[in-house]
Amino acid sequence: MLLKGKAAVISGAASPRGIGRSTATLMAEQGARIAILDLDEGQARDAAASLGPEHIGLACNVADLDACKKAAAEVTEVFGKVDVLCNIAGITQPVKTLDIGPADWDRILDVNLRGVLYLSQAFIPHMRENGGGSIICMSSVSAQRGGGIFGGPHYSAAKAGVLGLAKAMAREFGPDGIRINCVTPGLIQTDITGDKLTDAMRADIIKGIPLSRLGDARDVAGAYLFLASDLASYITGAVIDVNGGMLIH
Ligand code: NAD
Repeated sequence: MLLKGKAAVISGAASPRGIGRSTATLMAEQGARIAILDLDEGQARDAAASLGPEHIGLACNVADLDACKKAAAEVTEVFGKVDVLCNIAGITQPVKTLDIGPADWDRILDVNLRGVLYLSQAFIPHMRENGGGSIICMSSVSAQRGGGIFGGPHYSAAKAGVLGLAKAMAREFGPDGIRINCVTPGLIQTDITGDKLTDAMRADIIKGIPLSRLGDARDVAGAYLFLASDLASYITGAVIDVNGGMLIH
C-alpha cells in the first residue's frame, strides 16, 4: 500500500475512461482516501461512490478560484488533511493556429493552465500547515514536441505553461516540504478526443511509437501514483514522460 493513510484530491476524475478516474482508482487501491473534483456534482459523487464509501465527490470548476477555495475548505474539513493533489482536469481542441479564436484561447488556457494555478493556490496553504505534500500537474507531449498529435497550438501553449508553472512552484515550495512534478503523456485512449480521432489518424500515430500502441489511462495513473508516494520523496520539479517512446529526448 503506497498511499496508506493519505488523502488525495484529484481534479477531472469523473470521466469514466479518463486518466483522472484511473488515477483515483489506483490511488484508492493503494490505500488513499480520494476526493474527486469535477464540473458536475452528481457525476463527481457517483465516481467517488464507485471507489467506496470513504471517498467524496464535489463540484468544482478549476478555472474558478472561489470554487477551488470552497472545494479545498470542504475536503480539508472532511478528511482533516490533504497529502496529494493531482491536477488532471483538462480539455482540448484540434484546430490550427489561424482558426484559434479569442474564446477558444481563453477556454483552453483557463482550464488547462489557470486551473492548475487556482487549484494549487487553494490547497498549498493546507499542505504547508500539514508539513508538506505532493502536487502532480498534467502537461502533455504536445508541450514538448510542438503539438502535432491532437490538440491545437493553444493546447500546446497551455501545457507548456504548466511545465513552467510547476517547476517554479517546485522551487518556491520545496522548503515547505511540498514536492511539485509534472507528467507528460503521449496519446492516451480516453474520451477527450471525442469522435475526432479517426482510425487512419490512430494508425499513423502508432507508426511513430516504439512501444507500438497508444497509451491507456492506467499507464499514466502509475506515474501519478509513483510521484504521489514516498518512493518519490527526493523528486521535485521533474517531468515524467509516459508516451511509449513517441518522444525520446
Ligand atoms: P477526459 O475528457 O476523459 O477527462 C477530463 C476530465 O476533466 C473530465 O472528467 C472533465 O469533466 C473534467 N473537466 C473538464 N473541464 C473541467 C473544469 N473546468 N473543471 C473541472 N473538471 C473539468 O480526458 P483525459 O484524456 O482523461 O485527460 C485528462 C488530462 O490529461 C487532461 O488535462 C488532458 O489534457 C491530459 N492529457 C491527455 C492526453 C490523452 O491523450 N488523453 C494526453 C496528454 C495529456
